[in-house]
Amino acid sequence: MSDLPVPPEDSTGPESAAGGQAAVYRPGGPTPWAVLMCKFSDVAAQPQEAPFFEDLFTMAGAGKGGMADYWRDMSGGAISLTGSTVFGWFTLELSLATARTWTWPGARTDLVRACVEAADTAVDFSAFQGIIALLNAPIDSGSSMRQVLKVGDGEQEFGLVNLDPGAWFNTFAAHEMGHGYGLPHSFSDEPAFSEYGDGWDIMSAETFGGRSPTHTHPRFAKSGPALCGVYQDRLGWFRGNEKLDLSSLGRGATFTLSALDKPPPGIRLIRIRLGSSTQYYAVELRMPQATGWDSGIDRPGVLVRHVRDGVPYLRQSMSRVQDLQPGDYFADARENLVISVLGFNMAERTATVHIGPRPPVGLLTGARMSPLPNAAGWHNSAVEVHLTSTAAPGRGVPRITFSATGAHPINPTTVTGPTATVKVTQQGSTTLCYAAEDESGAGELPRTLRINIDKIPPTTTRTVSHPVPGHVTIELNGADPGSLSGF
Ligand SMILES: [Zn+2]
Repeated sequence: MSDLPVPPEDSTGPESAAGGQAAVYRPGGPTPWAVLMCKFSDVAAQPQEAPFFEDLFTMAGAGKGGMADYWRDMSGGAISLTGSTVFGWFTLELSLATARTWTWPGARTDLVRACVEAADTAVDFSAFQGIIALLNAPIDSGSSMRQVLKVGDGEQEFGLVNLDPGAWFNTFAAHEMGHGYGLPHSFSDEPAFSEYGDGWDIMSAETFGGRSPTHTHPRFAKSGPALCGVYQDRLGWFRGNEKLDLSSLGRGATFTLSALDKPPPGIRLIRIRLGSSTQYYAVELRMPQATGWDSGIDRPGVLVRHVRDGVPYLRQSMSRVQDLQPGDYFADARENLVISVLGFNMAERTATVHIGPRPPVGLLTGARMSPLPNAAGWHNSAVEVHLTSTAAPGRGVPRITFSATGAHPINPTTVTGPTATVKVTQQGSTTLCYAAEDESGAGELPRTLRINIDKIPPTTTRTVSHPVPGHVTIELNGADPGSLSGF
């Protein structure tokens, strides 16, 4: 597997076109923000107190679920909000009436400039890398990325964010601060091309491609999701041993991928460079969390993003989902590349994936159930599944990876050799996923097999139904009230 050169950084994201002065910014260590509470000259309201913003935007809020925690978590501790300070309230020369005549969002930089002028004698801006202007009436919320502003006696580059009272919550604030760190939006490529179309990335807030991956924090309201791995990597926050660089010209191999939020050690991002271009596919695993930034994500899934000029475009699988499940795969025929998901380990928070060229003809796994199911596809006892693989001539002895989800989960398991036996004993429906890999590393497209077990003997007297996890449609009848299969 060859090394992947770092793609050229894109500093001309959608929202930087107006400024065009943004340089590559790799935030590390303290990233202090000057947080300016500002009142329009014709609006007296102070709709929030300074301690709220101190908890939301400064280290005073560390451990309280605000932005100090968000950026610590997204950067793996590479940055902090140390030095961030809340100032104000300042009264602007600018009135709300005048601001409403401006053209939005083009006037964002002018709005922050008005706030800087009001604060300039009270704030030493040279101590800050970014400015968050908080306005006391609804006008506009957003970012003009990183820009050079005149402050004090000189000029300096800042990340610029403006938030009115409608945006004083985690999801909105994190998105705009992401712009302030130099990040463009994220996109989906499929099923439709869409800006803000990535339901697993904060840089697609607030639409998330029609998904709702957020949760509600008791103090800071709508929160999450995480910043995608592509953007964490772009800002230089991945250590070398946390990402893996492959080439689409490689032979293929099976990998264990850690969830994006999983602490080291482990590979959390796989990048597959396409031929000799600077474009690549990025592969990451997202898993729901009981608490945390991804607690609004509904199920585990492997994501594949096409990265062009440093910007991620989410793709979809062969079964037309964006979060790939075991047994599903993504294929790029032109690049001769297949990314297959072979299983999840929920306890370890990992996925087993195979990445490589299209499978060679002749690499094939057959499955045989013992005993055979009844005509309706059901068993009334434990089932053994015998897997037998053959490789293409000259490609050695295959090995088999299998896993299962549903009533009888099985962690991804690789057996060296052409046969494997899987026992499924739990009542209910289980989906087995399996695929072979030959000695060259080439992989078979994953296959799935549904196994339905109903051990409850029929009776005419039972009146209480047995709940079965994951099985919501239970047809009751006089002969077999609690049963699934009609035995
Ligand atoms: Zn934005």
